[in-house]
Amino acid sequence: MNKDKDYYKILGINASADKKEIKSAYRTLARKYHPDINQGNRLSEEKFKEIGEAYSILGDDAKKAQYDILRGLTQKKPNTSEQAKKQASEAYSEKKKPDEKKKNEPEKHPFGDAFSGFMDKIFEKPESKEPQKQQQDKKPQPVKGEDITTNVSITVVEAHNGTVRKINILHTEICPKCKGKRHFNGGTCAICKGNGEISNHKKLSVKIPPNVSAGTKIRIAGEGNRGQNGGANGDLFLVVNIIKNSIFEFENLNVLCEIPITPSEAALGAEIIIPTIDGHINMKIPSETHSGQKFRLAGEGIPDSNTAKRGDQLVTVKIEIPPGLTNKEKELYQELAKIRKFNPRENIVFEKNL
Ligand SMILES: [Zn+2]
Repeated sequence: MNKDKDYYKILGINASADKKEIKSAYRTLARKYHPDINQGNRLSEEKFKEIGEAYSILGDDAKKAQYDILRGLTQKKPNTSEQAKKQASEAYSEKKKPDEKKKNEPEKHPFGDAFSGFMDKIFEKPESKEPQKQQQDKKPQPVKGEDITTNVSITVVEAHNGTVRKINILHTEICPKCKGKRHFNGGTCAICKGNGEISNHKKLSVKIPPNVSAGTKIRIAGEGNRGQNGGANGDLFLVVNIIKNSIFEFENLNVLCEIPITPSEAALGAEIIIPTIDGHINMKIPSETHSGQKFRLAGEGIPDSNTAKRGDQLVTVKIEIPPGLTNKEKELYQELAKIRKFNPRENIVFEKNL
């Protein structure tokens, strides 16, 4: 009890208010400033505490009498109840005891059991259905947020060495306006529409470890959807997709590919451009190259970030005859055949002919 505080003013009543008026004023204000309705509003919270404190004094005959005496208030209505008078004087004499009692009082009463008991009672009333519902909502079970799964495409080189990918995910987060309290300044939060959370894009830098294979799931804890009622957030799962290149095959650090060449390139030699995992490179084809011949391009394979070594690119050439030969081309091939009697199968022995 703090005699310097005007509990009547706090409840918006005058000192002559009777018990019924005090209770009614308290109920109205307590509902108005109840923390469940004004979540996150510190002013309301303070006000609510103040109202509770005022009522814990004025709603209690003995304490009210004591308070009135301390405040020097003359009761306009003579208190006819002997009991009340007795309580008043008892309360007064109690007040004269050492100060430690006074010290303890504010802690003991404003949110004491008697007070919350009364709060429960007023919220059980049919006309206060909504606050009652909100009170039930107060202790729901924590629910873990949903996991989010998304794909991440990386190159073969990145799969080997690991990489960092910036990814953009859409997940739910605590509402930045009401901080998840669903209400703001006494009303439903306009940002989250009272959900307490919002869907938001978030950019994340994700580290993909070395030597991942296609389909590897990488878990990023806590970056899924937001947990409810204090539950943990869901996780984010990245499913690794390794970008396929139809030209290349991979064997450890080596890159394998098959490159078509023309008959004249094969016969006369040429310098051709071939693709590599980094771009392209010039490759010399010597004259008299035959189909299926393999060429090694040193250091054009996969770079290993640990050893700083690079694999090779192994190129297999394949002679391809141009489609739709013209009469002129056919003539020239016939001429070539006449000039050179070449049988590439002469050393191949068929069992039949033995
Ligand atoms: Zn909000």
